[in-house]
Amino acid sequence: MTTIGVLALQGDFLEHASMLRRIGAETREVRSAEQLRALDGLIIPGGESTTLGRLIEDFHLLEPLRVFARSGIPTWGTCAGMIALARHATDLPFPTLEAIDIEVDRNAYGRQVDSFEADLDVPALGAEPFHAVFIRAPVVTSTGEDVEVLATVQHDGEAAAPVALRQGALLATSFHPELTPDSRFHEYFLEIVRSQGRISAAK
Ligand code: GLN
Repeated sequence: MTTIGVLALQGDFLEHASMLRRIGAETREVRSAEQLRALDGLIIPGGESTTLGRLIEDFHLLEPLRVFARSGIPTWGTCAGMIALARHATDLPFPTLEAIDIEVDRNAYGRQVDSFEADLDVPALGAEPFHAVFIRAPVVTSTGEDVEVLATVQHDGEAAAPVALRQGALLATSFHPELTPDSRFHEYFLEIVRSQGRISAAK
């Protein structure tokens, strides 16, 4: 059985957990370093990145999460979770995990007020567009050369920006796949988890 942890300090961790159960994975709420043990993957949900950063420190999870996300165990950050995973985030008064090689601007869509929905073309998920919900989404302003862009969006006349990215076993999305019925992103993450398991088993 595959067990995916969901960081459960704040934000929409319940929605991620129910989506994971729907597609046949075991889930575990994570609030301590101990609960990171023996997980096959981890989701860091959206919420509010300043609060999330503060809670990560209060729960003594900064170092354990850094080690976890950088160890090659699949880790997926959505929205505020993407901010937490990024190498750098503008205006964030807390450290990030510095895992995925992207820079994000937390407030690029106008002081966090802008929310919108868009149908994304995501070739990795097949031909059907993915309906994505953006809630005060961060904007990715730069990506390292090992980062693969899975989808982009063009919003409000601005230049197209990456909104779904992957670097090895790390996945980041600036929108909320747990808030729509389409489970393909969660299934895609499980595929990363399962292929990673096969790589570790072969070693
Ligand atoms: N922009 C928000 C932040 O800085 C993230 C919003 C979200 O996760 N929905 O935390």
